[in-house]
Amino acid sequence: MRLRNIPGAKDAILECDWVIDEPEKFKGEWASVFGEKRPLFLEVGMGKGRFLMDMARLYPEINFIGIEKYSSVLLRAVQKLEEEELPNVRLIRMDAEDLENVFAQGELDRIYLNFSDPWPKDRHAKRRLTSTRFLERYNNILTPEGRVMFKTDNKDLFDFSLEQVEEAGWILENHTYDLHHSEYNEGNVMTEYEEKFSAKGNPICRLVAYRHAK
Ligand code: SAM
Repeated sequence: MRLRNIPGAKDAILECDWVIDEPEKFKGEWASVFGEKRPLFLEVGMGKGRFLMDMARLYPEINFIGIEKYSSVLLRAVQKLEEEELPNVRLIRMDAEDLENVFAQGELDRIYLNFSDPWPKDRHAKRRLTSTRFLERYNNILTPEGRVMFKTDNKDLFDFSLEQVEEAGWILENHTYDLHHSEYNEGNVMTEYEEKFSAKGNPICRLVAYRHAK
């Protein structure tokens, strides 16, 4: 039976071998899930998984994990993986709040934040995935050289993120307010939202940051 014929996103997801159901069990052991120790890259809020799958196809020597909060969205990625198996991809339905329960210190080499929800109200600022609160979480799971790469078309969120990077004591490796017309665009893999917003004429902002090595 094809997944799209199964009613109930949660049940359908559980049937898929590429979705890790109890990810806490693999904390510190993610290489064993892939069967080979390779660099491990994570996308937080991967949506329907287009970026993750394009990256996995381009870089078979890297293991990729995508996390997504909502089953209904994750299901779309599961359906795509059903059609094209990618051995270096795994998916998790989880909230980024719980990352430290799932990944050990230094287990990740890169974290992608692509078109993260803006949470425009000041009182929700802590929920933004580039807030100092989240940067601290990333700090606890990335290698010392590990990078956070953040793309958005939301200038307010981008400015906020630049401030948070500084406040958290991270090093800003580079940033641009117009990725597609910058020197950093070479090798850029577009996400679903990136294509949608850049087609409307919105410039895409991107920053790359890493933490101070302790
Ligand atoms: N990254 C994709 C792209 O660029 O095309 C999707 C962007 S979409 C605007 C943001 C996604 O992040 C949504 O699917 C949302 O459910 C997910 N998300 C938001 N907050 C999250 C969180 N705290 N943990 C996991 N996923 C989250």
